Amino acid sequence: MQVKTGPFDSAGITFIGRIHTPWKDRLECPRQGRPDGPTCRIELFHPWHQALDGITDFERLEILYWLHHSRRDLVLQSPANDGSLRGTFALRSPVRPNPIGTSIVKLLRVEGDSLFVRGLDCLDGTPLLDIKPDRTLFTPIAPPQPGDFQTEQ
Ligand code: SAM
Repeated sequence: MQVKTGPFDSAGITFIGRIHTPWKDRLECPRQGRPDGPTCRIELFHPWHQALDGITDFERLEILYWLHHSRRDLVLQSPANDGSLRGTFALRSPVRPNPIGTSIVKLLRVEGDSLFVRGLDCLDGTPLLDIKPDRTLFTPIAPPQPGDFQTEQ
């Protein structure tokens, strides 16, 4: 089923929902979500609700979100705040040129346009980018392609 999307500019990112969590301040959030963390609600915007068809086949999902309060201009950072520097791409810091966060969550239930999950670490109101089955649980449904059988010579 095709739906009208956009408007797109640059990479064409479109927010497909909003994440509701107990955390109102970045300093309260977990550094990384945990499977026994608090239940959070992922709200899907219209017209994406039907895209949840089949989702309950998966116990775990990968959630991608936009860490919208992050600065985006640091190449080196000091995560421990002690002056020692590390490259942004060697970290999972929210501060990055394209502040995409990902978490593997446990799916508890689906109610209407909402998923209830555990395992998130983001602020209340964080924009949702995408939802995918956990890759370790997913077997491609589409037929294989030549690249699937290709290995290093
Ligand atoms: N699990 C994700 C990952 O590894 O890609 C995100 C990890 S990041 C270290 C999580 C931290 O980002 C939180 O502890 C909080 O300080 C910060 N954060 C959470 N939500 C945010 C938001 N909407 N905008 C900016 N920073 C946020």
